[in-house]
Amino acid sequence: MNKENVFKLFFLIIYNMEPRFRSRSQKRIKTKIPGGNIVLHFRKRKISTAKCAICKNKLAGIARARQKKLKKLPKTKKTVSRIYGGYLCPKCLKHKIKQDYFNLSDITKDV
Ligand SMILES: [Zn+2]
Repeated sequence: MNKENVFKLFFLIIYNMEPRFRSRSQKRIKTKIPGGNIVLHFRKRKISTAKCAICKNKLAGIARARQKKLKKLPKTKKTVSRIYGGYLCPKCLKHKIKQDYFNLSDITKDV
């Protein structure tokens, strides 16, 4: 089989697959199976890290794993024991608490 035919064959294999496999974001690996044929295998996509809802920085202390693995992990590895833990970073939280406090004091002044 020449190079062109090999390319056509892979093209056919890829475009007869499920749409989610056609994406280029998944790494493809050609592996030799015991029968001697070469087949395409796909690496799993990387899981994104937890990010702060305001500044979009990475959050520390939160596990990065698939849902199946996350279910087995203890709660302490999935959240941070602080209000808005696992949702806001400490800097943004500090700012938010200050803002909320001053807003509250303004309301009480009027009353
Ligand atoms: Zn933040």
